[in-house]
Amino acid sequence: MSAKPPPFVLKTSAAFEQVFPTLTEAQVARIAAVGRRRPVKAGEVLLRAGEHGQRFFVVTRGQIEVVPKGATFVISYRPGQFSGESSTLSGRPVLANVEAVENGEVIELDREQLLALVQTDAEIGEIVLRAYILRRVELIANGFGDAVVVGSDHNPGTLRVREFLTRNGHPHTYVDVERDPGTQEMLDQFHIGVGDVPVLICRGTLVLRNPSNAEIAACLGFNEGVDTERIRDLVVVGAGPAGLAAAVYGASEGLDALVVESNVPGGQAGSSSKIENYLGFPTGVSGQELTTRAYTQAQKFGADLMVARGATRLACARKPYAIEIEDGVRISARAIIIATGAEYRRLPLANLSAFEGNGVYYAATYIESQLCREDEVVVVGGGNSAGQAAVFLAGTARKVHMLVRGEGLAETMSRYLIRRIEQNPQIDLRVRSEIVALEGASGLERVRWRDAGTGLEETHPIRHVFVMTGAVPSTAWLKGCVALDEGGFIKTGPDLTPEDLAEAHWLGTRPPFLLETSLPGVFAVGDVRGGSIKRVASAVGEGSIAVAFVHRTLHE
Ligand SMILES: Cc1cc2nc3c(=O)[nH]c(=O)nc-3n(C[C@H](O)[C@H](O)[C@H](O)COP(=O)(O)OP(=O)(O)OC[C@H]3O[C@@H](n4cnc5c(N)ncnc54)[C@H](O)[C@@H]3O)c2cc1C
Repeated sequence: MSAKPPPFVLKTSAAFEQVFPTLTEAQVARIAAVGRRRPVKAGEVLLRAGEHGQRFFVVTRGQIEVVPKGATFVISYRPGQFSGESSTLSGRPVLANVEAVENGEVIELDREQLLALVQTDAEIGEIVLRAYILRRVELIANGFGDAVVVGSDHNPGTLRVREFLTRNGHPHTYVDVERDPGTQEMLDQFHIGVGDVPVLICRGTLVLRNPSNAEIAACLGFNEGVDTERIRDLVVVGAGPAGLAAAVYGASEGLDALVVESNVPGGQAGSSSKIENYLGFPTGVSGQELTTRAYTQAQKFGADLMVARGATRLACARKPYAIEIEDGVRISARAIIIATGAEYRRLPLANLSAFEGNGVYYAATYIESQLCREDEVVVVGGGNSAGQAAVFLAGTARKVHMLVRGEGLAETMSRYLIRRIEQNPQIDLRVRSEIVALEGASGLERVRWRDAGTGLEETHPIRHVFVMTGAVPSTAWLKGCVALDEGGFIKTGPDLTPEDLAEAHWLGTRPPFLLETSLPGVFAVGDVRGGSIKRVASAVGEGSIAVAFVHRTLHE
């Protein structure tokens, strides 16, 4: 008989009582009022790894255990303690078997009952949500999960797969082939070559070679259980801060809301290492942390979320509208909030993401200017935003190297800015120049650029690069359904001219609401909206405001 694995040990600084709380008798009684008491027998499997019907158990007598397949630990729950972690709320497949150790009794709730409980009982809701978030963090810290990534730190595909799993909050084990020669031998036996890396071993059975994000989502069941058949009150497209805010407010106000996200929850903000200007976080908050909390909050209120499934078309000819997503699936909606954001034009450098927020910035505000006080900086771009950034940063930086790909600024920048740049001795304008390499160990340390005219390259010890080459709105999929401005951003509310409305055949007897597009009942929020302020707080604000107008259109 094999020895029983040792008990689970916390790897983070979380307090044990918060990760595995014991409920009071009064709290257990409130759960019993909505659930079902039932006896369990020693050895009975209450939940099986991979199964979809998530359930929640509170132990009232005896003991139950979480027994991960091949794991090096077990988690025990005694009377007053409850089972589950984030996937219990999200409805994703069960991560590990849950078994009764001895004859006893549990209170059982299905997922719908659990969602109703955490929404209505604030005290229990807080205890369960906090425990679930902390348990998920602990599983990740313990390297436990039903996914194993075999790859290399030097392989961009490995970074993509790990980022996709991490930003979806999915625990996984990582094996680096370069640090573990035995792994390479194993891969050789399966004829898995260099081009197949990374390999994802999914749920201990399926082996995927260099999988796409959609394949990973399918294999791990991220979107299972999401009903795409019924007509939704609200479909939100995009799960950045704007879309997540719309989902939280929509679902919490009783709307049947579904969010469709082409990549991972969090959007641009999710990639920010520290957001310092978001209200209520005086010491800053990582984009990942902020958006993970928002994602859990949306799920708590019952919003559904599909990841790695982008909207490819808006069927706008008649109501209810429909969002077509990859694989030809159509989701009908009474109202739609478009929150697809904008993609900042990025530098074509393989290691760029390692420095984003840590030396490479897409905004030049007071905060960034303080970070590079008395330092040399690079501003990339020849448009007005780059010009404004260069002039602004020249006020605090020792020197601003302005790199422009074209022959000069005249074509792309306002005359007054060109004059200011020319007259400012702190600004060194380099035309026909582009960055060819970024270097540094823990942050950006050196920048190399090339003069395309002379072919010469030079390396400078510079720790701050501002990429101000503009943003492209993610609106190509809308194909003529809503009015766009000259930059391709969506026009809304008072920005829509009578001509826009006439062209769009606006049928309403009222003018469009604030944030409403030229299509009644379809709203645009956040970075994708023309004239929006490209900030997390404004995206969140717009997402929540739009929901108020969704209610009004649903009652029309
Ligand atoms: C590196 C970096 C650091 C930043 N730091 C700060 C900061 O410190 N403070 C601050 O206030 N702002 C900061 N910003 C700006 C801020 O992140 C954005 O203004 C904010 O994220 C906009 O939110 P959004 O929801 O409108 O769009 P996004 O965050 O861009 O989210 C849009 C989402 O829609 C998805 N999507 C796109 N097309 C489709 C489709 N067809 N179907 C389904 N989904 C789709 C995308 O994958 C994405 O997840 C930073 C931006 C970057 C890039």
